[in-house]
Amino acid sequence: MMCLPGGVLAILGDGQLGRMLAIEARRMGLVVWAVGTDSKGPAAQMVDRHICLPLDASAAVAQALEAANVVTFETEHVPLATLQAVAARTPIFPDVAFLAKVQDRLLQKEFLQGLGLPVAPFAAVHTEADLLNAAETLGFPFILKTRRGGYDGKGQFKFHAASDLRAPDGAFAAWTALGQPPSVAEGFVHFEREVSVILARDTSGTTQVYPLAHNIHRNHVLRTTRVAPVLPAGVCAEAERFAQTIAHANAYVGVLAVELFVTHEGAIIINEIAPRVHNSGHFTLGGAVTSQFEQHVRAVCGLPLGIVGDPQPVAMANLLGDLWQQQGGPDFAALLRRPNVQLHLYGKAAALPGRKMGHLLVRGQNAEDAQQQAEACLVALERGADAQAQA
Ligand code: AMP
Repeated sequence: MMCLPGGVLAILGDGQLGRMLAIEARRMGLVVWAVGTDSKGPAAQMVDRHICLPLDASAAVAQALEAANVVTFETEHVPLATLQAVAARTPIFPDVAFLAKVQDRLLQKEFLQGLGLPVAPFAAVHTEADLLNAAETLGFPFILKTRRGGYDGKGQFKFHAASDLRAPDGAFAAWTALGQPPSVAEGFVHFEREVSVILARDTSGTTQVYPLAHNIHRNHVLRTTRVAPVLPAGVCAEAERFAQTIAHANAYVGVLAVELFVTHEGAIIINEIAPRVHNSGHFTLGGAVTSQFEQHVRAVCGLPLGIVGDPQPVAMANLLGDLWQQQGGPDFAALLRRPNVQLHLYGKAAALPGRKMGHLLVRGQNAEDAQQQAEACLVALERGADAQAQA
């Protein structure tokens, strides 16, 4: 199967990742469809055809995509029934069986452990008794994460101490307020830094790996990504080996993201994996010869991958909806006076606090300089918001 220019690539999901996939795919001459309910949203603005259906309408989605040449997804939260219904009629990549393992945090951890890869100690939690057992085994602090559906720290509860098991405003109460969904408790990793590997694998088994990304989070949400090895070469090589192990063990096709913790002792532990293009890979839009989005399109279309090229001194900064709370929105005029800053906006109408509205790509003299400038851009935009709030 090969989907060449003129062929139809359909994307399940219509958010910003779908938008950036669509931009790259259309540049390459593909016809792009996206499925979701945001008919004026980030992907809908960029595709040839937006199919307005909820992702859980399995039969209708499968029927609508029958005429596509190939299907992919921008989120791992597409219901399994829909993926299976689509796969019965149309080729879909990455593989649905792989996604089934990955979209459930417990299955994902068991799967990684089965490959001999390091994950934080964990325990399945389905009842209060499981939770108490997990607290005893893992000790404090630990994190409880819902098995399905969470992202950016949503569906996560940190238990700092035994009192959080009882306090009315503690983690246990928050988990109970959600209806005690099936979850997994995870030992807290006292990491020195968070990094990610973005890897692409095509149908012939060839891989391309981007330079390790160093990720800085705030309130569980990615704030900036710095590209460049600030780590010993051995650590980078091991992180890459983990990603290769996962991809090859499953004849994976597409872009795969592996998020990792690096401990103070230099050990690496896998936090989670995402079977899709990833926020920490946005730097590749200007910081690599072939972006993660083009790689994904190439891979799922049965085409060979492009080259990554030499590491570039770039950094990425996420623009969250908080910046839009000031009148007139962020001061883009001031921002764009910086000639080394590239602005990417996702075309979202409502700028809710915490919502990812876009990102910046900042080029520096070297990786550290790029990172500092990216942070400085965010601080300048935030100051504008703060100044207005105080006025
Ligand atoms: P996740 O949604 O699982 O990627 O978690 C979001 C963020 O929470 C991560 O990027 C970490 O900063 C933090 N986090 C998640 N799990 C752990 C853990 N086991 N130990 C320490 N920090 C964690």
